[in-house]
Amino acid sequence: MHSVQRIGRYRLERRLGTGAFGTVWLAHDDELDAPVAVKVLAENWSHRMDVRERFLSEARLLRKAGSPRVVQVYDIGELPDGRPYFVMEYADGGTLAELLAAGPLPVPEALRLTALAARSAHALHEAGIVHRDVKPSNVLLRTAPDGTRRVLLADLGLAKSLAEASGLTLAAGSAGYRPPEQAEPGAGIDERADVYSLGAVGYQLVTGTVPAAPGRVVPPGRLRPDLDPGVAAALTRALEPDRERRWPSAEAFARELEHAAEGAAPAGRPRGRRRLLALTAAVVAVAAAGTALTLALRPSGPAGVRVADATGRIAVRVPDGWGRQLRDSGWDPAALGLPAGHEPGLAVADDLAHWQDLASGVRGVFVGLSEQGDVTARVAAVDHPGCRYQGGRAFADGDWRGQVRTWDGCPGGGRLTETALRPAGAAGQPQVYVQIRQRSGSDATDGILRSLRVT
Ligand code: ATP
Ligand code: MG
Repeated sequence: MHSVQRIGRYRLERRLGTGAFGTVWLAHDDELDAPVAVKVLAENWSHRMDVRERFLSEARLLRKAGSPRVVQVYDIGELPDGRPYFVMEYADGGTLAELLAAGPLPVPEALRLTALAARSAHALHEAGIVHRDVKPSNVLLRTAPDGTRRVLLADLGLAKSLAEASGLTLAAGSAGYRPPEQAEPGAGIDERADVYSLGAVGYQLVTGTVPAAPGRVVPPGRLRPDLDPGVAAALTRALEPDRERRWPSAEAFARELEHAAEGAAPAGRPRGRRRLLALTAAVVAVAAAGTALTLALRPSGPAGVRVADATGRIAVRVPDGWGRQLRDSGWDPAALGLPAGHEPGLAVADDLAHWQDLASGVRGVFVGLSEQGDVTARVAAVDHPGCRYQGGRAFADGDWRGQVRTWDGCPGGGRLTETALRPAGAAGQPQVYVQIRQRSGSDATDGILRSLRVT
């Protein structure tokens, strides 16, 4: 466990992630009463003056960009042990890497997100900065008060001012997203390097696959045969090894993608090519539940918040405080090992972006319907190796009967229940899969299960 509980006026709440050079924490700014993200340079690097300088130059460059499309830096400082940190805007919607955990996105969504990332890169370019490390984990999502999502580019650890970059000799960037000129000593870098990386991000959002080395990229239409040839051509042009043949600017690429997104027919996630994480099926299930994120649910009645999925077939009540975020767009039962498809489902939690992280202390509920599959058998096979299995018990009310299996002592101290329900009457379908994440203390499981309505 991390020994520091407070950095200046920022109270650390939990770890958001760790990268090559440091750790990012969710913290609370007690003065402004607002969440922030604090990035702290790792101890083993903090004595290296060149790394320290690079770390702090990231903060200064982010500040210099001063764009709402780029993560904002509020503060900078040093821990008593000498580790530098900077404080930035908290992206509550996670990263594109987390969205990708459930496989490729619907094409219009993938194009819109890539276009927004390209617009963010363009904002940097206008400030004279080449990012040089655009990849899914550096594209953050933040929910605006009206529920729409903003895309923020982060992590300029490798960025340099255009002026400095001209004589650059360092191979930099991340494999798959890195243009050939970034691996060539002295090639000189300009905004088209980011166009390549943005093309790689778009390619991955559409196909679910990181592109192969420059010049050997499999045409995206071969991985996703329903892909519009115009979209495939736009991505391929961004991924041209010869930068003279790429889109001349991130803005031009963004415009093309926006245009294509308008024309692209709304389609669901592609079937078949889903890439499962090395997580339990149950945890993956929620990531598969789609990308629509609605905020700020109204409390209804004395006990808790009532939420429903987009089809209106599922409704459930969760305790107050759990209902901050809702994903209502369904799920793919393949995540539980059942035949692939798209069925009604919802996930509601205080922090959906970290649902997959068993150490995160998230509180929430996932409910997925299955019209054909044997959910009971699948849930019986779920395991959570990081937690302690407490055993199973029967559940029955007027509508449902089934099995509740409980784990506690998960890494963040949390408790997890997995439930498979069948209608109490004779009909065997639909079956319902319910996953509940809560902290130790009083158990909300039965109240939640009794509140469940499925039509
Ligand atoms: P790399 O070191 O290769 O850049 P990375 O991008 O994952 O990898 P970091 O930039 O250190 O590493 O960030 C670690 C993780 O913290 C990110 O993947 C992201 O999930 C999370 N994160 C970073 N910045 C923020 C932020 N402002 N708001 C919310 N989450 C963030
Ligand atoms: Mg990063």
